[in-house]
Amino acid sequence: MRIAELIKLTEVEGPGRRAALWLQGCSIRCPGCCNPEFLDPHGGQDRDPLALADELAALPVEGLTLLGGEPLDQAAELEILLRRLRARGDFGVILFTGYPWNIVRTRFPQILDCCDLVKAGPFEAAHHPDPRRWIGSTNQTIHALTDRYRNLAAAWPAARREIEIHLRGDAIVINGTPLPDTPWPGPHPLEPPAPAPRRPVLSPTLPLRRSP
Ligand code: SF4
Repeated sequence: MRIAELIKLTEVEGPGRRAALWLQGCSIRCPGCCNPEFLDPHGGQDRDPLALADELAALPVEGLTLLGGEPLDQAAELEILLRRLRARGDFGVILFTGYPWNIVRTRFPQILDCCDLVKAGPFEAAHHPDPRRWIGSTNQTIHALTDRYRNLAAAWPAARREIEIHLRGDAIVINGTPLPDTPWPGPHPLEPPAPAPRRPVLSPTLPLRRSP
C-alpha cells in the first residue's frame, strides 16, 4: 500500500493519544483540498500492510486515525492492515473518508467491519469552516459503528486551532489544524532529501487535516 505519512503519536488527530496514518492518493479531488501533495496515487512510500500493522500494534497509543489522500481508494490493502491490527489487540480505529456515507456503507462494508468511527463526505469549501473539532466542512457526517467512541459522536467537541511540531532527523514535521491561510513552505518529508547544505525543513503536508 502507498502511504503519505505516519505519525506514531499525536493528540490532535482524534481523541486521546493515537497514531495517524495518511494514505497516498485520492480520486475524489475536492476543490480546496488541504493536502494536495497526497493526491497522486504514485507518490508517497510503498509499505507492506501486514508489517505496517505490526508496527502500529506495538505503539503505546489508544488507536489509529486514518486520513489521506483517500483511505478507501486502497480498500483491499487497508482491509489487510486493519484485520491484522484488530487481531493484534485492542485498538480503536477512526476513518476519515471523502466518500459520502451511502457509498461507504454499501461499497466498503469490509472496512467498516474494522472501524469504530467514520467521518464521511468530501471537503466542501463553501461549507468550511466547521464548528466541530477535526471536521473540515459542515456537510461531512459522523457515524459511530461501535460503543468505543459513541459518547464522542454524541457530544462532538468544538473546533480548535491546534498543531503539533515533531522533530524527525533534521526535519520538522507539522500536523494539526493551523490558522487559515497559514503558509507551509518546504518539501514533503518523504520526498528525496534536498542537496547540501541541508537544513531543517517545514513540512506543509500533514497538516491541515480537516479534510477529507
Ligand atoms: S479533501 Fe480529502 S477527499 Fe477531498 S481531495 Fe483532498 S484528500 Fe481527497
